Amino acid sequence: MSFTLSGFSIPSANTGAAKHVKVLVLGSGPAGLAAALYAARADLEPVVLTGMELGGQAALTHTIENYPGFPEGVGGQELGELFQKQAERFGAKVEFDTAQGVDLSQRPYKVTSDNGAYLADTLIIATGARPNHLEIPGEYELTGKGVSYCATCDGWFFKEKKVVVVGGGDSALEEGLFLTRFASSVTIIHRRDSLRAGKVLQNRAFSDPKVKFVWNSVVKEVVGAEKVTAVKLRDTVTGQETLLETDGVFIFIGHTPNTQMFQGQIEMDALGYITANHLMETSLPGVFVAGEVADSHFRQVITSAGMGAAAGIQATHFLEKEATSA
Ligand code: NAP
Repeated sequence: MSFTLSGFSIPSANTGAAKHVKVLVLGSGPAGLAAALYAARADLEPVVLTGMELGGQAALTHTIENYPGFPEGVGGQELGELFQKQAERFGAKVEFDTAQGVDLSQRPYKVTSDNGAYLADTLIIATGARPNHLEIPGEYELTGKGVSYCATCDGWFFKEKKVVVVGGGDSALEEGLFLTRFASSVTIIHRRDSLRAGKVLQNRAFSDPKVKFVWNSVVKEVVGAEKVTAVKLRDTVTGQETLLETDGVFIFIGHTPNTQMFQGQIEMDALGYITANHLMETSLPGVFVAGEVADSHFRQVITSAGMGAAAGIQATHFLEKEATSA
């Protein structure tokens, strides 16, 4: 069945035999849907299992202003729907279904999902990465209302406003420095008294007049009703609690790639990202990756879509080569 990002129905459980497909794409973000578009245009009838986050993280972004071709910007959900429609136009099947387990020990690769099972000649893993959350009161409720996990996506909305950044790594400093283009002040809240970030970023942050630091502090709560108005802080040394007024809270405390179900079956780096070469090839024949599941660096819609296109092309080449050598 097919779905749209704004209105989908959940199919009833399928207990039938595993469905054999030439290309199975796991994930419906820009990477997965771009991979499906390319595989579909090669007449491979790819099947996309959407996963729980329809449209991926990009669909959670209010407005995307840095995806080429949309000079006025485009809604994240709308862009996801456009990607989906374009892939479906050429024969991709988008299933509202989530992969729950994989057996990568032999080809065709077996994927079991909420609604059935698949045998895939080639697999494109585009399951993304999720930003780590603080898991504190107010964080979830105020996401999109001042709480953000993406400065590139949302920084523009904080022109001349005060923002806080949580974290002390490269992401916190890099994104915090990016936010100084818009915000009147950027306060970096770190739980220790020294940063994890590299020296170059540290020096830039320390010398930027808009950047301030609050050391040895953790955010206990995001405060606000319709939008963020403050954060409640706790000093990790003295235990003292204070309220810091702010318009925005940007949280950069690391990402976790969605690779748990592949553990021990495919090569990954120390952080759990699937390793691949520039052709999107993984350690297994016929298994390709795209997007943030293999990219801890760029994390942009365009780079993920580009990786998806490359994975779709390579899956096509792989199957063509196999067919001609058979
Ligand atoms: P990271 O290096 O893991 O840093 C996460 C930061 O968040 C750390 O400072 C950590 O504090 C803090 N933190 C973690 N959990 C927290 C919690 N529950 N409450 C408060 N603070 C918390 O993650 P990242 O900055 O996203 O970087 C990920 C990788 O990408 C790194 O290898 C990094 O070098 C790389 N990267 C590189 C660049 C660049 O080179 N320009 C840019 C971005 C990312 P502690 O320090 O106390 O652990």
